[in-house]
Amino acid sequence: MSDTAIDTLRAGARFDVEALRAQFPILRREVHGKPLVYLDNAATSQTPQVVIDVFGDYYARLNANIHRGLHTLADEATAAFEATRARVKAFLNAEDARQVVFTRGTTEAINLVAQSFGRQHLGPGDEVLISMLEHHSNIVPWQLLALDLGFTLKVIPVDERGSLDMQAYQALLCERTKLVAVNHVSNALGTINPVKEMARLAHEQGAVILIDGAQAAPHQTIDVQDIDADFYAFSGHKVYGPTGVGVLYGKKALLDAMPPWQGGGEMIKTVSFEPSGTTFAETPHKFEAGTPAIAEVIALGRALAWVEEVGVDAIGEWESVLLDHATRAVSRIDGLKIIGTAPHKAGVLSFVVDGAHSQDIGLLIDQLGVAIRTGHHCAQPLLHHFGVEATCRASFAAYNTLEEVDVFVSALERVIGMVR
Ligand SMILES: *Cc1c(COP(=O)(O)O)cnc(C)c1O
Repeated sequence: MSDTAIDTLRAGARFDVEALRAQFPILRREVHGKPLVYLDNAATSQTPQVVIDVFGDYYARLNANIHRGLHTLADEATAAFEATRARVKAFLNAEDARQVVFTRGTTEAINLVAQSFGRQHLGPGDEVLISMLEHHSNIVPWQLLALDLGFTLKVIPVDERGSLDMQAYQALLCERTKLVAVNHVSNALGTINPVKEMARLAHEQGAVILIDGAQAAPHQTIDVQDIDADFYAFSGHKVYGPTGVGVLYGKKALLDAMPPWQGGGEMIKTVSFEPSGTTFAETPHKFEAGTPAIAEVIALGRALAWVEEVGVDAIGEWESVLLDHATRAVSRIDGLKIIGTAPHKAGVLSFVVDGAHSQDIGLLIDQLGVAIRTGHHCAQPLLHHFGVEATCRASFAAYNTLEEVDVFVSALERVIGMVR
């Protein structure tokens, strides 16, 4: 038996994927009369029954506004909401639960840093570094702010395999660099970036680093203290949780020194009609204006507990097995080119096929029950760099099987035969 086959067996023996699948009702549905093969996990992951149940339970038993009332429901809802903050603290290995700010998602977390920290610290002559691998949500907030504040936005290039050019990064870093904003794992290519090393280098220049962890949180243990991240963001709906909720982690001293972003209820200590007379709540509440997505936050806590029960590193290992299997199989397809072949990759397989439009492949393969992503994956500048407008992308999660990869590959071969 080959080494890979043995690895596959070992990982499979440790990982009971059929038992996991049974917890996801959506995986039992059909699409166009075929069993659903869901390989668009980098866009959103599916949700296990225990997380879905949180919603029914919350509205049936607990529904009340938090941090306000003194009645029982308000107390219980507040406790359940704050329990997620403690859960996120442990999930990220933060020092203190007060470093966890709830947002609508990664996008809002990045915008919060841009509008609060950015407006406080950035101006003409300053530089912000992002990378060519960034999602639009870690590009556009900085562009909007640069137009307003007059700082310069610079881009760390990637090599032909889709790894960040670390020499270029070091060359770009200088005393003008105030902030580095990079993703931990690229959603378009799957590249895992050396964020700990990047943080060390940024700090040597006195810059602050924000890490977009939307694609890392579902696949590997995150330790914000080990990375020495100043800010770290992720989204609930990519870690088996609900949409509408995400997290911004920040170093306590940074968050404490930052001004509020949005004003409203929940974020104040006292309010007077004298604008300078209004005072703000402590971190993290000063960044959480208005009634939050209470049920979603509680459900996120349940999703993270689920991920911990399964083991995030075991999930990551299983996804590597799926990725290896898929990479090997699609490499045999004539005219197929994989975009993004970095040595350290998460479970993302992006590719283009000679003589076949990605969109046609996506539409036709859906007819066979297979859900993949086609398009620019919110990373247009990156795809331009590789000379393509769009790719097909299959991305894996804990509940995907080797058989599903085989179904995907034979469906892909059929579809390519039809469009060529
Ligand atoms: C999905 C994603 C985002 C945006 O997340 P939202 O949940 O849409 O806010 C940002 N960065 C990366 C790397 C992503 O994959």
